[in-house]
Amino acid sequence: MISLQSKDFLEPKISHFMIESEKVAHVQLGNNLEHALLVLTKSGYSAIPVLDAKFTLHGLISSSGITEAILGLERIEFEKLSDIKVESVMTREIPRLHIDDQFEKALGLLVDHPFLCVEDDSGLFAGIFTRRMLLKKLNEHVHKLNHF
Ligand code: AMP
Repeated sequence: MISLQSKDFLEPKISHFMIESEKVAHVQLGNNLEHALLVLTKSGYSAIPVLDAKFTLHGLISSSGITEAILGLERIEFEKLSDIKVESVMTREIPRLHIDDQFEKALGLLVDHPFLCVEDDSGLFAGIFTRRMLLKKLNEHVHKLNHF
């Protein structure tokens, strides 16, 4: 039977496995929904971070949130895309990780979120930690134990 040494899996720091901020598709405060939809569509992601010029994290913008914002009574009002700013549509209440946090903290949060934003000591956006990475590491861990 497999005995999962949970300490080995839960203790590594998420910072070693996150996608660094410069590789994360994002939009900035002040951008309009047309720009955000373009970045979301081109990147193929369903939600991305909203940052300011200093790289402070302000929220997440999603394609479903954008569609909701331009949904009229009888049709989707695409002409509104250029008039609405991302800050009026983004989700502000989001879970955050610190670069020194361990897998254990991410594990519970990733049940409800496909990815988590990570901040550094100065509170600036450092990157994201994805559910995919956590599952990849769990898969490696389980295989290692299986081959003991
Ligand atoms: P994945 O684990 O690759 O399926 O990604 C899950 C979610 O994390 C995506 O839908 C995006 O919302 C976000 N994500 C992953 N990689 C990036 C990236 N490089 N830039 C922005 N968002 C990302």
